Amino acid sequence: MIKKKQPLAIKPRRGVCLVISAPSGAGKSTITQALQQSEAYVQTSISVTTRPPRPGEQDGVHYHFRSVEQFRAMVKEGALLEWATVFKGSYGTPRAPVEAALQAGYDVIFDIDWQGHRQMRHALPNDVVSIFILPPSLEELERRLRGRKSDHHEEIDHRMTEARDEISHWKEFDYVIINSELEHAIAETRAILHAARLTKARQIEGLGQFVSTLGG
Ligand code: 5GP
Repeated sequence: MIKKKQPLAIKPRRGVCLVISAPSGAGKSTITQALQQSEAYVQTSISVTTRPPRPGEQDGVHYHFRSVEQFRAMVKEGALLEWATVFKGSYGTPRAPVEAALQAGYDVIFDIDWQGHRQMRHALPNDVVSIFILPPSLEELERRLRGRKSDHHEEIDHRMTEARDEISHWKEFDYVIINSELEHAIAETRAILHAARLTKARQIEGLGQFVSTLGG
């Protein structure tokens, strides 16, 4: 009787938490979207925020827009993996979808600030790989912010002050990318994600079983 070969039960690897931080206008949303569109098994974490939607922003797509009371309740219930107050609003990462995605082998991209990065590192130390995106200059950053019609003058000035503060935390991140040329920055981000997927620690469960069939 021919023994039927059992398929190798290689479990999906645990996903990567790719945290991308940058000052507003450095291009992180565009980079994140490009990765989400071009990569299989990548999800973007949709944050909860108390700030009002900007024109064109949809609830459940760009953010989950919630009242201050609803946000506080989520914090109290422990429903957020991390949260912080940035500009005039509070922002946080819902815990349940992230844990489900990582478990299923999806990589999750987080567009969060330095405070969120610190908390994520603490909450998921073995899963986080982080990138800080820098603009080529402060002048270029301001030019990009002024090009966004939805932001008012005072808000732009405020965001420039916040940008300097955000930039001061660059050393806390694993990787740094200078976004002078968008396509190049996207390729560099993709390279970091691909390398992170291949670390031994991230593949260990399925890999050990496979390597044993090779005598290793
Ligand atoms: P914006 O209001 O321009 O969409 O975002 C403002 C800032 O909040 C950005 O730096 C963005 O990365 C950050 N942010 C967005 N979502 C979260 C979140 O869930 N947690 C934290 N800590 N920061 C967030």
